[in-house]
Amino acid sequence: MEKHELSKSTFIRGVQCLKSLYLNKKRPFLRDKLSPEQLAIFRRGHKVGSLAQKLFPGGVDLGARSPAQYRKVLDLTQQIIKNNAYDILYEAGFQFDRLLVFLDILVRENGSWHAYEVKSSYKISNTFLLDAAFQYYVITNSGLPLEDFYIVYASEDLVYEKLDEYDNLEPLFIRENVLDRILPLQDFIKEQIIREKETLLLDKSPEIPMGPHCYDPYPCDFIGHCTRQAQRK
Ligand code: SF4
Repeated sequence: MEKHELSKSTFIRGVQCLKSLYLNKKRPFLRDKLSPEQLAIFRRGHKVGSLAQKLFPGGVDLGARSPAQYRKVLDLTQQIIKNNAYDILYEAGFQFDRLLVFLDILVRENGSWHAYEVKSSYKISNTFLLDAAFQYYVITNSGLPLEDFYIVYASEDLVYEKLDEYDNLEPLFIRENVLDRILPLQDFIKEQIIREKETLLLDKSPEIPMGPHCYDPYPCDFIGHCTRQAQRK
């Protein structure tokens, strides 16, 4: 399989900071350790994602358990779509121009494909829209037209601590159509991909001073490294 350069998480990392993108790919050993709070947020995200699949029952789960399975998932996704084998796919994989995405839920309705991305959050942020826009870019350019793109997020009735206790998930998640907000972002996505790929070709990390962007939208995991670097100057 052609080795991918950017996934949706590395793409979003690059939007936040090109130095973080570079370090993550070339110097991953410099990363700070994850805090217990960050680990808890990741676990919650995974749990919400798998629970939200129950909103679209009867699908096939293609979730890759390791990078070694990516090729298999990409091929299976193509076969299933081509053969109309299932109308609902969880974690379907798509690749285009060395960009790789796995979509939470893909649904065929009335002969056309609808994408659903699930977020463990009570609202849609600009970062979620960029994430969806990147996925839309990769999926449609890989050859699958998408009729619509939805972000699925938690309603205020959802209490994360009670996730295991709910019988009916329907009222706990909101499905919001974001296609009209991600289409105007497609030019930005294309240009940002070029910037990020160029950054990954550098032979040392770009000189980017620390600032508010180190915490927005997420606390960067190279804060320790960049702080030590700044102190040495
Ligand atoms: S700590 Fe700040 S400057 Fe350093 S890589 Fe992260 S976001 Fe970039």
